[in-house]
Amino acid sequence: MAEPYRIKMVEPIKMTTREQREEAIKRAGYNTFLLDSEDVYIDLLTDSGTNAMSDNQWSGMMLGDEAYAGSKNFKNLLAAVQDLYGFKYVVPTHQGRGAENILSQIMIEPGDYVPGNMYFTTTRAHQELNGATFVDVIIDEAHDSEAELPFKGNVDIEKFKKLINDVGAERIPYISLAVTVNMAGGQPVSMANIREVAEVAHSHGIKVFMDATRCAENACFIKQREPGYQHKSIPDILREMFSYADGCTMSGKKDGIVNIGGFLALNDPDLYQKAASLVVVYEGMPSYGGMAGRDMEALARGLYEAADYDFLTHRLSQVQYLWDMLDEAGIPIVRPAGGHAVFIDARKFYPHIPQDHFPAQTLAAELYVRSGVRSMERGIVSAGRDKEGRHHYPKLELVRLTIPRRVYTYAHLDVVADAVIDLYQERDKVKGLRMVYEPPVLRFFTARFEPL
Ligand SMILES: *Cc1c(COP(=O)(O)O)cnc(C)c1O
Repeated sequence: MAEPYRIKMVEPIKMTTREQREEAIKRAGYNTFLLDSEDVYIDLLTDSGTNAMSDNQWSGMMLGDEAYAGSKNFKNLLAAVQDLYGFKYVVPTHQGRGAENILSQIMIEPGDYVPGNMYFTTTRAHQELNGATFVDVIIDEAHDSEAELPFKGNVDIEKFKKLINDVGAERIPYISLAVTVNMAGGQPVSMANIREVAEVAHSHGIKVFMDATRCAENACFIKQREPGYQHKSIPDILREMFSYADGCTMSGKKDGIVNIGGFLALNDPDLYQKAASLVVVYEGMPSYGGMAGRDMEALARGLYEAADYDFLTHRLSQVQYLWDMLDEAGIPIVRPAGGHAVFIDARKFYPHIPQDHFPAQTLAAELYVRSGVRSMERGIVSAGRDKEGRHHYPKLELVRLTIPRRVYTYAHLDVVADAVIDLYQERDKVKGLRMVYEPPVLRFFTARFEPL
C-alpha cells in the first residue's frame, strides 16, 4: 500500500564512510544505543518516540494550555481515552514506564507473582523492583522463531491456570497482558484469547492490566485475521479489547504517534485515588503527570490517528515489505511478520557464535558498520541477569529492525534489506563480542563491548 499521506516537511540525513562508522561503533562500545544519531543513516533502533507527527498534531501543539492545574488538553486526552479505550480515569505520565512504576507500586506486595505474555524490559523491571516475580505464560510457540501462527502473542491458558494453582490467586494481583507482544516479534493477541484470559483472571479475583503500547496494531491484526472482525472498525475493536481489562499502561511514544508521553488508565475509583497520590511524587499533578499541555494535545489527536485503518494498513504493509525481502533471500527471521518490526534470528544468522558471545549484539554492530543502519539487540543482553546474578538465556536471540511511524519510505527499506543480505553472505567471517561494562539494571541501554 502506498503512503496514505504526503510529505510537507523533510529532515536531511547523511551517509557516512565505513571508516567513520568503524570509529563511531568503537566509541559506542559496540552498542548501537550509544551511537550519536547524526552518525546514523537509517535509524531502525526503535519505533518509540521516533514518530512523525501530522499537521493536525502539530497544530494541536500550538493550543497547549500550560496552566499548572486543570489544563483543557488533559480534558481532551481523557476524552480520547474514554472514547477509544473505554476507561474512566487517566493518569498522564512522562512515558510508558512512568505508568508501569505507578501501577506496580499500587498493585504489588513483596512475594507476589505477576504473569505476563512474555516479559518486557521496563515492565518486568518495575514488577521486580516492587518485590514481584514475573512468570511467563505465553504460548510455547512464541519462543520459536519459525512457528507461523496468526496470534503468536496469545497467553497459554493452561500455564496461567497452573500458576494460580501453584501459588494461589491471592499471590497474583494481576496479569500483565501485552497487546502486541514486543519481545515475541510484535505478535498480536486474539480477541478470543483476551476474553478467555479475562474470564479466568476475574473468576479468581485477579485483575487484568494491559500493556496497551501497540494496541492499535493489535486491533488491526484482529480485523485482518480473526473471524467475525472483518467488518468492525478499529475503534470498535479497541473498545472491545479494553472492555475485558481493568486498566492499561500506555507508551504514547508508540501507538500514540507522539515523541514523548504516556498514561495509566483505570476504572476503579480507589485504585485511581492511589495512583493519583503517587503520580504527584514521581511525575506531577494528576492533570498533567509528566507531560506539557501541548504534548497531551498531540497525544489525544495521535490516539485517533493511530486508530485509522488506512494508517494501520500502510504501517503493517511496510513491515511486511521488509519481511518479504529478507524472507525471499533466505535470512532467518521471526515468522510471521509482526506489527512494528522485523526480527532477525541471530542464533541462526551466526550459528557459530555462542550466546554468551552475544550474536545479536554482534549483528547489530556489523549492520551499522556495513550500512549506517541502526538496529537493536533483543537477546541475552536485553534479558539481563536473574536474582542470583546469572545471565537469563532467552530462547530468542534477535536483532530488531524497527520501523518508525510515517518516517521512512519503501526505498529506505530496500537499502536495509540489501545490507542485511550482504552481511548474510559474509556471515562465516564474523566473531562475537565480550562485555566490558554493564550497569545493574536494564543493562542493554549502556553496556559496552569489545570484539573478541
Ligand atoms: C516501550 C514499551 C514500554 C515502555 O514505554 P516507554 O514509553 O518506553 O517508557 C512498555 N511496554 C512495551 C511493550 C514497550 O514497547
